[in-house]
Amino acid sequence: MKGYQEIIDRYRRIAGINDALELLNWDQQVMMPEEGIRARSKQVSALSRISHEKLASDELDELLGEVSPTSSIQDANIREIKREQEKARKVPLKLVEKISEKESEAMDSWQRARKEDDFSIFEPHLEEMVELKKEYAHHIDPGADPYRVLYEDHEPYLRLSRMHEILETLRENLTGYLERIREEGKTIEKTAFEGQFDSEEARQLNREISEMMGFEFERGRLDVSTHPFTSGNQFDTRITTRYNEKRLQESILPTMHETGHALYQQGLPGEKYGTPAGQSRELGIHESQSRLWENHVGRSKEFQKHLLPSLEERFPEEFESVTLQDCYESVNQVYERNPIRVNADELTYHLHIILRYEIERALIKGDIEVADLPETWDDKMERLLGFRPENDSEGVLQDVHWSIGAIGYFPTYTLGSVIAAQLFKSAEEDIEDLDEKIENGEFRPLLDWLRENIHQHGQRFKTEDLIEKATGEKPTADYFLDYIREKYSDLYGIEL
Ligand code: MG
Repeated sequence: MKGYQEIIDRYRRIAGINDALELLNWDQQVMMPEEGIRARSKQVSALSRISHEKLASDELDELLGEVSPTSSIQDANIREIKREQEKARKVPLKLVEKISEKESEAMDSWQRARKEDDFSIFEPHLEEMVELKKEYAHHIDPGADPYRVLYEDHEPYLRLSRMHEILETLRENLTGYLERIREEGKTIEKTAFEGQFDSEEARQLNREISEMMGFEFERGRLDVSTHPFTSGNQFDTRITTRYNEKRLQESILPTMHETGHALYQQGLPGEKYGTPAGQSRELGIHESQSRLWENHVGRSKEFQKHLLPSLEERFPEEFESVTLQDCYESVNQVYERNPIRVNADELTYHLHIILRYEIERALIKGDIEVADLPETWDDKMERLLGFRPENDSEGVLQDVHWSIGAIGYFPTYTLGSVIAAQLFKSAEEDIEDLDEKIENGEFRPLLDWLRENIHQHGQRFKTEDLIEKATGEKPTADYFLDYIREKYSDLYGIEL
């Protein structure tokens, strides 16, 4: 027990540093003046170094070698701390620092390349990043497929082979649905949320939606940033959104998405703060929480019905002749030609992910070169979505991920949608008349269900076990496909 407590004390100090790093990152994206970066990068690298050294220390290693957990919570905490610690000990500090330096350079070159629509600016930096990440993977497990090692950084408890099966199932089915929808050629309403929207009203509306979903402002903030994101812990959860004065849904949906992430953070057990049992599970689970609220609630007819009176009140001119069906269709349209992942509808979104997954996997394997990326990207997009991007800015240069070394990250977005559908299905079975409750703006029963089945557990259970406990089954794509088939058959008046 003494050994266990010592490990927890040490880990809490590491977690404290990591939380401070997260707050510095929030500040950098939301508040910091431009020139601040010159001091900020030094602060970040100093703290990152201390955190890494503490985690990789011989003292912690010895303690972990001797400890014998005496309860299931202790067992889970030790399992998670060991997993992080073993990785930290395998990767030399020099390499960690090299990667983080490369990140800021590569991200900077990516921004310029995207702005000037010139892939060659980014190309040498990405080449270096790919080599560094391969080296990193080799340190962690020299005998393994390096892509699997990189993927497991983001999703340690859902095997890559299982993830691959899920993506294959989606590809097969979704490309078929897309073809049928296009053949049918039915146009649905697209513009219910377009107009001219007063920014103060929009701000208040977003705050109201977030609060209505259960976000606690005494333990959180809602601010503005270029790319909406969530950070923080159960006592201080920060979310951001963005405003487009011409397109109202471009703030509502991101706000609901980030609030979904935030409700998970705020639902983590307070007394376990600073230990794995008080921290959220990895990306697939986190993203399932955001997508459940954004898609299964936000894009449902019931929610739109609940929302419409507020819209009419706040923006009387814009919503005067807009019907519920217009709203519902507008937030669910399947775009004819949308090359951008973050704007995609629920159906084509995953084809954007499959494209990235195939490319990054081939890149790490050495089957394609960085120089081939623009053409490979465009060819794949034509095969999967039926058109080619007009330029690299709306093609291979659109996402930040590879520039910051986040390779193996994209599949977790799809996993989030798949798990969201599975969880929502179970919640519907457990909560009487959930549809009606959403229509009436009663979100508490759904939040309580998520709190009980997901949030309160932190990292106590591994990803697949957590889902199995909540739904009775391991993660499966079946419920997502049922949901998509039903929704889009109804919207487009066809039998998918
Ligand atoms: Mg998200």
